Amino acid sequence: MAAARRVVVIGGGISGLATAHALVAGGADVAVEVLEASARLGGNLRTVRRDGFLLDEGPDSWVAQKPHATQLVKALGLGDALIETIADNRRVYVATRTGLVAQPAGLFLGIPSRVRPLLRSPLLTPLGKARVLLDLVLPRGYGRAPGEDEAVGDFVQRRLGKEALDRLAGPLLGGLFSGDVADLSLMSTYPQIAALEKNGSVVRGARALMPKRAPGAPSTPPKSPFASLRDGMGSLVDALERALDGVVRRELAVARVEAGRDGAKYAVVDAKGGVHAADEVVLTGPAHLAAALLRGLDAALADDLASIRYGSAVAAFLAYREADLGRRLDATGYLVPRDLGRDVVAGTWVSSKWPGRAPAGHVLVRCFFAERNLEATDATLVELAEKEAAFTIGARAEPLFAHVARFHRGSPQPRVGHAALIARIRGRLAAHGGLHVAGSAYDGVGISDCVRQAEQVAASIRAVARP
Ligand SMILES: Cc1cc2nc3c(=O)[nH]c(=O)nc-3n(C[C@H](O)[C@H](O)[C@H](O)COP(=O)(O)OP(=O)(O)OC[C@H]3O[C@@H](n4cnc5c(N)ncnc54)[C@H](O)[C@@H]3O)c2cc1C
Repeated sequence: MAAARRVVVIGGGISGLATAHALVAGGADVAVEVLEASARLGGNLRTVRRDGFLLDEGPDSWVAQKPHATQLVKALGLGDALIETIADNRRVYVATRTGLVAQPAGLFLGIPSRVRPLLRSPLLTPLGKARVLLDLVLPRGYGRAPGEDEAVGDFVQRRLGKEALDRLAGPLLGGLFSGDVADLSLMSTYPQIAALEKNGSVVRGARALMPKRAPGAPSTPPKSPFASLRDGMGSLVDALERALDGVVRRELAVARVEAGRDGAKYAVVDAKGGVHAADEVVLTGPAHLAAALLRGLDAALADDLASIRYGSAVAAFLAYREADLGRRLDATGYLVPRDLGRDVVAGTWVSSKWPGRAPAGHVLVRCFFAERNLEATDATLVELAEKEAAFTIGARAEPLFAHVARFHRGSPQPRVGHAALIARIRGRLAAHGGLHVAGSAYDGVGISDCVRQAEQVAASIRAVARP
């Protein structure tokens, strides 16, 4: 009888765990082993509980419209724990020099879909508003440089002008990638925004996507754009861990992937010198990790993987008594235009965004810092966050506690031309046979994108394994 196909999955973050889960649950004849460097599973998904507060240090949710994460959550029996953002607070503020101003209603990823709220908004000057309205008559592709891809910032600016880029779209679109809209690839980060220009005006394109309200019908809050879990993102990791009993090995870093010996296609060598024979190797996690592990096998492939740029993120959580704040936190948070030069680039009002994140009468907020503060000490960051809280939410007392979370090179920043680079990487992987990558560097950066890629890799492995 032929032996089961040996699969080694490198990395026990969401991509690695979802790959292993899809293989195990898929019933194919495979022997799966997940190798994880640290003692903790989950990678970027880190949930911390402190004094009755719940802190998701990295991702706090996934995009609700992308179904793969939700489907996985349900398959793991966590369907009842799914939560939405708090309906009454589904709004976002924008920081100005003097305080916070609500975003105009009807934005689709920062692109205005409604003219009246835009005209009433103090965020743009009359000239800035006129420039946005010019979009209604500009032809498709207006001002576009030749080429398949373009930068997110170039797209928004040529359609809507610089003010709309700086104050409406840029802080959100760049912030989600800890990156700069000046060189993020539109096609690889926000293809849904590129598609808005299909018939010319992106304002009209965005309007076509917004839910229609019958004349006279009461206004309902927008749908929750994100989904999360009552017990935090860590509960997804815990459920995967339970489902993968006996499959995962922790505290076993992989050192390199080599050509196999004794009939195995690959040898996955761990940092303790152990050799794991594999017919299929799935490299998850950041592309710079895959680059380092594959360098001995294929230097050109490693160079391509290493060329994917990464951004780092640092955030501080602050916990307060509601009574110590100067305002009600009636939004999911706020964005900060870069040209204000502030130390903080965005704030999430965690306990107003999600239910169950703070005890009654208390709030939890999180500040994301500008790149120049990445190397600052925890003490400096907490001081900056407290200043920020005094400015944005009128904090009048010391926080009950502060908590700093750092993510070094955790966010890929797909640059213009990313799709062509990934096609080349996939071509080289295919030429080797049995080598796979899955994760936020390749085909969508979010958790649901990682789960989708994991399931695709598992399906391709199952297709060659015996049923
Ligand atoms: C601050 C931040 C906020 C984010 N917010 C969101 C959000 O709200 N929504 C969303 O959808 N996405 C968000 N993301 C993106 C999301 O976190 C990623 O898409 C996803 O977690 C990537 O998972 P992964 O398993 O591919 O990689 P990782 O989470 O990086 O996991 C890689 C794993 O590999 C392990 N490893 C490293 N080296 C080795 C080795 N040599 N051998 C074996 N194992 C190794 C690591 O310890 C880790 O466990 C955010 C990212 C960051 C950084």
